[in-house]
Amino acid sequence: MNAAHILLVEDDAQIRRFVRMALQDAGYRITEADGVKRGLIDATTRQPDLVIVDLGLPDGDGKRLITEVRGWSDLPILVLSARDQEREKVAALDAGADDYLTKPFGMDELLARLRALLRRYEVKTPDGIVRFGDVEVDIVRHEVRKRGEPVHLTPIEYRLLAALMRAKGAVLTYRQLLLEVWGPGHAERTHYLRVHMANLRQKLEDDPARPRYLITELQVGYRLMGL
Ligand code: CA
Repeated sequence: MNAAHILLVEDDAQIRRFVRMALQDAGYRITEADGVKRGLIDATTRQPDLVIVDLGLPDGDGKRLITEVRGWSDLPILVLSARDQEREKVAALDAGADDYLTKPFGMDELLARLRALLRRYEVKTPDGIVRFGDVEVDIVRHEVRKRGEPVHLTPIEYRLLAALMRAKGAVLTYRQLLLEVWGPGHAERTHYLRVHMANLRQKLEDDPARPRYLITELQVGYRLMGL
């Protein structure tokens, strides 16, 4: 399953349970963390597509997590704040959060914010489909088709493709891609990229040996052409 994966960092077990059930019903995958430390570990090792973070956490301030994640990724971050944390909310946005919700919040509103953030983070497209050549990528469902036939991508392959789509044809360096897809700690492992890029080409290019879309920029990185 390639459904979007959401990391929820919240110490209130009741809110976590309520959010988890609603997100699972809506088809998302979810990882839960109850503090800053655990949240940072999960953000760097479990490749979430979006982070929801509470500001008041037992082992520190959610802002710290935001600042750290922003050091290596632009993945969307939604803040949950209590009513008495108005100033904290602004500080969280200044630290790099994309949006916030004030507790108590309704589940429909949370789901709408998540969809908006995921869409904005992916690529702007009126129908939620990104096309290049005869490939179609449904950025909400994470489904890929070539000439109308479903193509199965692994989660890593999908993340790689999504990062290239977000760059809209601009080159991404090996380092940028490694940080985006694997997280910090893997920034030197360019051989990972070669392997997964070769697999992506096998699945999406007509002639993988002479790619038209997944283009290598020698010594620099990759770019996606044809968007
Ligand atoms: Ca809290």
